[in-house]
Amino acid sequence: MSAFSGDLVVLTPEGLYCPPGGFHIDPWRPVPCAVITHGHGDHARAGMGEYHCSSGSLPILRWRLGEQRYHVHAHGEAFQLGDARVSLHPAGHVLGSVQVRIEAAGQVWVASGDYKRQPDPTCAPFEVVPCDVFITEATFGLPVYRWPHTPDVAADIVDWRRRCEARGEAAVLFCYALGKAQRVLAEIGAHDDRPVLLHGAIATGVQVYRDAGVALPATRPVAEEEKGRDFAGELVLAPPSAAGSSWMRRFRRAQTGFASGWMRIRGNRRRRNVDRGFVVSDHADWPDLVRTVRETGARRVIATHGDTDALVRALCEEGIAAEAFRTGYGDED
Ligand SMILES: [Zn+2]
Ligand SMILES: [Zn+2]
Repeated sequence: MSAFSGDLVVLTPEGLYCPPGGFHIDPWRPVPCAVITHGHGDHARAGMGEYHCSSGSLPILRWRLGEQRYHVHAHGEAFQLGDARVSLHPAGHVLGSVQVRIEAAGQVWVASGDYKRQPDPTCAPFEVVPCDVFITEATFGLPVYRWPHTPDVAADIVDWRRRCEARGEAAVLFCYALGKAQRVLAEIGAHDDRPVLLHGAIATGVQVYRDAGVALPATRPVAEEEKGRDFAGELVLAPPSAAGSSWMRRFRRAQTGFASGWMRIRGNRRRRNVDRGFVVSDHADWPDLVRTVRETGARRVIATHGDTDALVRALCEEGIAAEAFRTGYGDED
């Protein structure tokens, strides 16, 4: 028996570390053993000795990190790492995203990774996992962040495309290539059966989702369209990095939009220099962050990234012992 009685997750220079289990969660520096919550670049990095992940994340990690020593686990199926009993539970963020449940020394800790509570047709819904300590993200940890119903936003995007068509313009929508693009596609498919054109960086991720059995509407790669064609009335999905690049020149007349939780704030749309902002987020909004903490029943909460201060303050006011870790995760959405 181990005599371990401290915290099940601590912050080290490499990332979140579980001392009784001898593994890191989404480390940002190379370590021998990593449990990965999902495939976004700030959570799944190269250079780890071994990777533990969900079956849904495996094709994404293979796409982004190539062949590695992967150990794949089904949702809810416990496995042993050192003196810790570990299991992975859906986080509702992107395909394959999971929370990490750790049981050791008579305690249960859950590290959420990134998560959301809104329905998403492209991934398994978030599961509330009761725990003593909940480690939560707080990307949108301010009360101003409240998400509209995503099907309504998808209808707005389709309406925007029609208006662009009437003006002889293409509608180029920027969104992150892993997760957001596929979710937007799936939501749009319910309102519009016209094929959507894809930038190459997004086409690869769309294929990974299709191979995993996620139903998505018809798409075509922009690169295979006839040279010099008129893109009026087409909806095109492209990664944010394509904004302002020479790739955009093929659309002689185009409106641009950005699908992100950050679009909730008007100034962010101006800063991004896009014509339209559509509020679609793969992270929990403020009410869902607070609700989720309550639902886990955790007595103690550690916020890892985003606007952690406001969340920590609000939870402390509820009598929950809340604090923040300074981590290496980004705020992409
Ligand atoms: Zn993420
Ligand atoms: Zn993140």
